[in-house]
Amino acid sequence: MKAWEANIRRVVPYVPGDQPKGDRLIKLNTNENPYPPAPGVQRALQEMKAETFRKYPDPTSSDLVHALAERYGVGEDQVFVGVGSDDVIAMSFLTFFLSEKPILFPDISYSFYKVWADLFRIPYETPALDADFHIRTEDYMRPNGGVIFPNPNAPTGLLLPLDEVEEIIRRNQDGIVIVDEAYIDFAGASPAETSALELVKKYENLLVVQTFSKSRSMAGIRIGYAVGSPILIRALNDVKYSFNSYTMNIPSQILGVEAVKDEAYFRETVSKIVETREWAKGELWKLGFSFPDSRANFIFASHRRVPAEQLYEALRQEQIYVRYFKQPGLDNHLRITIGTREEMETLFAFLKGYLG
Ligand code: PMP
Repeated sequence: MKAWEANIRRVVPYVPGDQPKGDRLIKLNTNENPYPPAPGVQRALQEMKAETFRKYPDPTSSDLVHALAERYGVGEDQVFVGVGSDDVIAMSFLTFFLSEKPILFPDISYSFYKVWADLFRIPYETPALDADFHIRTEDYMRPNGGVIFPNPNAPTGLLLPLDEVEEIIRRNQDGIVIVDEAYIDFAGASPAETSALELVKKYENLLVVQTFSKSRSMAGIRIGYAVGSPILIRALNDVKYSFNSYTMNIPSQILGVEAVKDEAYFRETVSKIVETREWAKGELWKLGFSFPDSRANFIFASHRRVPAEQLYEALRQEQIYVRYFKQPGLDNHLRITIGTREEMETLFAFLKGYLG
């Protein structure tokens, strides 16, 4: 080994789902939205002039921050935007998890958390979910350096009821609690009944993170945001400006505002996905699958007879991509993103034949 190799940071990176190329495939492996972004996004894209790219973007993303603050009824000093929620969460780990005590997140949850913790050398512990994949809130009541969990959880799709989310926050007021709501818009009911956003007014140590990648159909444009108290948002911005001032490019800022404007389209597409998901649960059940009761835009399903890996391979042969995690505890499940009704019908037609 060369002497300088000792100075290289060694990390085990997060592995994102495949992005296979081709028009005919059915892509249900990365929780993308099957519908296009709001029509206003397409219009704004057509009106965009390359000339504007000559200049640097607004480093504060003020128009987008303004649109989000208005949409969620919070102050502009309570909103932080980043390049996808991955960027927002990475910045949050760097900013808020400085304690020497371990941070806590569920053993089965977004696998990127462990990668960021390792990258930033943050100690962590991962309390186990119960046998039915539920978060056990009592595991988060012990001394810690901060807490993060997705709600609904990924890849299980299970929603932790808001009173239990609040209990975790209430019992952890000496640390920062981050609720990763990447999938909350699919949780049904009204957001007031499921999202921790309202609790931001009550708890200064709470950060709620959401994304344009799923419910707003814009995974490719990379927008995520956090809502929290002005103290948390200021701290996040200070770290961001110590790293890269111009994280959000001009198109993202413009198209993000357009997406937020069209509330009707947002509601319509989200409810179509929720409807398809509920129907898909019935179809999967009839085919012999079992699964936690998902409130997200995917279902984490396991077949009573056929191993998940075999099904994953058989589907791939058919150009139907679902996500398979070859990890203990997860390796007999498929995470199936909810596509259009037609895509799901193709999936079920194949499975019906294959499973006999
Ligand atoms: N949180 C969770 C729980 C996710 O599943 C994802 C998607 N991989 C993200 C955050 C990040 O999404 P994005 O960076 O596209 O906003």
